[in-house]
Amino acid sequence: MSNTEKIPYKIYLDEKEMPKQWYNVRADMKNKPAPLLNPGTHQPMGFEDLRPVFCDELIKQELDNDTPYFDIPEEILGFYKMYRPSPLVRAYCLEKKLGTPAKIYYKFEGNNTSGSHKLNSAIAQAYYAKKQGLKGVTTETGAGQWGTALSMACAYLGLDCKVYMVKCSYEQKPFRREVMRTYGASVTPSPSMETQVGRKILAEHPGTTGSLGCAISEAVEVATTNEGYRYVLGSVLNQVLLHQSVIGLESKIAMDKYGVKPDTIIGCAGGGSNLGGLISPFMGEKLRGEADYQIIAVEPASCPSFTRGKFAYDFCDTGMVCPLAKMYTLGSGFIPSANHAGGLRYHGMSTVLSQLYDDGLMEARSVEQTKVFEAAEMFARVEGILPAPESSHAIRVAIDEALKCKETGEEKTILFGLTGTGYFDMYAYAAFNDGTMSDYIPTDEDLEKGFAGLPKMD
Ligand SMILES: *Cc1c(COP(=O)(O)O)cnc(C)c1O
Repeated sequence: MSNTEKIPYKIYLDEKEMPKQWYNVRADMKNKPAPLLNPGTHQPMGFEDLRPVFCDELIKQELDNDTPYFDIPEEILGFYKMYRPSPLVRAYCLEKKLGTPAKIYYKFEGNNTSGSHKLNSAIAQAYYAKKQGLKGVTTETGAGQWGTALSMACAYLGLDCKVYMVKCSYEQKPFRREVMRTYGASVTPSPSMETQVGRKILAEHPGTTGSLGCAISEAVEVATTNEGYRYVLGSVLNQVLLHQSVIGLESKIAMDKYGVKPDTIIGCAGGGSNLGGLISPFMGEKLRGEADYQIIAVEPASCPSFTRGKFAYDFCDTGMVCPLAKMYTLGSGFIPSANHAGGLRYHGMSTVLSQLYDDGLMEARSVEQTKVFEAAEMFARVEGILPAPESSHAIRVAIDEALKCKETGEEKTILFGLTGTGYFDMYAYAAFNDGTMSDYIPTDEDLEKGFAGLPKMD
């Protein structure tokens, strides 16, 4: 029997095999990610500076570049058991459809009500807020997956949850909003008249349909002006990558069990949390010189932070109240064109991934949305899962890589992250099915406008 025949369609782990610790890839990085800076003074922000905004334990995780492993608290392990391990699937049907000698695996994170990997960090952040004795948390949500995940975690722990939802999504995704409300969250379209920064943005840009950066500013303001509240964020931050390492750890344990080693690891990149989590243990081996992997971040051509952005300190939000982060960015004022339906709209990128990319330890590709939806459609038809548009960026490049193998005959092993399901993205699918979806690639001139808003750092 050849090795392939022994590999089941889905590889699960049993409870004993599940990771009990998160892995912090920063511990193995020679060039550490640059520190967060105070937006006013440009001084590095320490524990005390961050306390008004974030939960204490999460700040410690955020600032810790040295501890390789963090124990996952019992309560979080218990919650993870409700929907983890997530399946690692051998995409036999997709391989057959493509006629490729490549072996394709995907780690499917859409098997929970929130429909994405975001629950892995939502429960951790809600847990530490609860442990600190807080009343509740505030956050922003774009497409709605993060807000949904956080509202589920808060309902489980009995915490209040205030979500600022980018106005265009609030209007386009009423069902997403109702899922959050069902889990007890309050959901406010952003920009709103409830906050100073919201009123200011509305005065300057009347009729704006909002952006993630703007919703972040509102959520931070509400957290810092209400007793017993802190702000939590679903991506970009170091702590989020730490929690998401559970994706990569489970994948690695499952692959090791069958003696499989991926040659290429692919993930979509919005703020970088699923990709950072998926690659963490593999990148750790690469950084320690124990193994080598090709790692590819995939982003939309309409929001190309890695492939066309600048590696610079920038604001994380439109209102410029958050710390500055050194990252690949298009500028905090950059808003992707209105025809962009495929998610992954954030202007910046995780500082960890930005540093790894700058050090040449990973690659990035940008893809156009019609090509992304073609891949999504093929995947749905052969593998059965209706993928989120975000996840479909990774599917696109996995298919492209597998088709290259078909030409060369190379029997490469490909692992990609399937971050979630697309049931709430049916307007985007409708545009694709109707043939009205178009691609827009920003011109250099468009991008210059975003870069012009980068803070002057001397
Ligand atoms: C939020 C989200 C992403 C992108 O976020 P990252 O932090 O880059 O992982 C990708 N896929 C899905 C389904 C999401 O909900």
